[in-house]
Amino acid sequence: MATPIGNLEDITLRALRILKEAHLIACEDTRRTRKLLLHYGIRKGLISYYDYNKERRAPWLIRKLLENKSIALVSDAGTPGISDPAFYLVRLAIDQGIEVIPIPGPNAALSALISSGLPTDRFAFEGFLPSRPGPRRRRLKELAEEQRTMIFYESPHRLLATLKDMVDIWGERRAALAKELTKKFEGIIRGTFSELSKQISPGKVKGEWVILVEGKGNRRS
Ligand code: SAM
Repeated sequence: MATPIGNLEDITLRALRILKEAHLIACEDTRRTRKLLLHYGIRKGLISYYDYNKERRAPWLIRKLLENKSIALVSDAGTPGISDPAFYLVRLAIDQGIEVIPIPGPNAALSALISSGLPTDRFAFEGFLPSRPGPRRRRLKELAEEQRTMIFYESPHRLLATLKDMVDIWGERRAALAKELTKKFEGIIRGTFSELSKQISPGKVKGEWVILVEGKGNRRS
């Protein structure tokens, strides 16, 4: 189920009801989810499910589901399964014939896209690029002909290096950087790669970022 990407008010009434009704809540970060539950006065057992324990924890969760227990799966923030370990459990559950029901809500990629000013009619979600420069540049080369708006998640300490690789490999394009969406230091910068790079001070990039880039030969639509 989707939970806020920052602002705790971004949660649906249905998500709150399910959090109260579920037998268990499996979450990536128990501290973060506990804060959310506390905010809404919900008392419920939490069980951690994250990248490093997913293979060990998933069979246990599947057993509980097969015993007819309902489990609300919550990621660190936003929509589970989008660049987080939810996919692994979802596929296992489907293989076991267990019903998987989405509870829609916030997502950083879509929130960034709709405010970027870049075409939204077609887009490609790329998630995280490889962190090492070689594989990252190879992936960017593979994407050189992509015509749809591209969406990337990026960590703050790689942001400038990634922008530099993008301009080196693709040449100038229109792009947008969305940071800390729905939070206190929320902001969106729009412009060409060079314009964006000038607005970011090296060593001072903090928080969570989404990079959006127009596709090759894209026209304002
Ligand atoms: N499942 C999440 C979703 O639905 O957006 C994404 C999880 S992924 C592990 C975390 C990445 O999402 C961050 O590194 C950042 O790129 C992006 N992100 C998450 N929250 C954000 C926010 N409030 N503002 C900008 N980007 C955010």
